[in-house]
Amino acid sequence: MAIERTLSIIKPDATKRNLTGKIVAKFEDAGLRVVAQKRIRLTKAQAGQFYEVHKERPFYDELCEFMASGPVVVQVLEGEDAIAKNREVMGATNPADAAPGTVRAEFAESVGENSVHGSDAPDTAAQEISYFFSGLEIVG
Ligand code: ADP
Ligand code: MG
Repeated sequence: MAIERTLSIIKPDATKRNLTGKIVAKFEDAGLRVVAQKRIRLTKAQAGQFYEVHKERPFYDELCEFMASGPVVVQVLEGEDAIAKNREVMGATNPADAAPGTVRAEFAESVGENSVHGSDAPDTAAQEISYFFSGLEIVG
């Protein structure tokens, strides 16, 4: 295991319901450290670029609309095995399949409006972090 960094996004369904603090607490309780964080409002085009890997999937347009529908909190989480650990704390994409105690089991509204994003591998983590943050904005 190594110290890694991963990109996390608290999605509009969660910011709208004032769940930012409760969600961040789950990451911190799991040993992940917030080393960069900002609250922003994405345009649909910016959301589309972020989720470009999914552009052929049937839910792409709906996903981009949703991600632009309200503020998001983008953050860099750091810790031992942070990429996998973040995904463990998030739970499965569909809240119906998410393990008890995970963010998505507790807070997600549906498979689309599922409260959080997390990078899935070291290369995507690096790419997603640099989409939102400059090196100067990440303070470990
Ligand atoms: P994850 O966010 O768990 O990595 P994916 O990368 O497969 O999941 O999908 C990206 C996002 O697209 C999901 O978090 C969710 O918001 C949305 N999504 C995935 N599958 C569906 C679906 N079947 N219907 C609607 N939205 C979906
Ligand atoms: Mg994904």
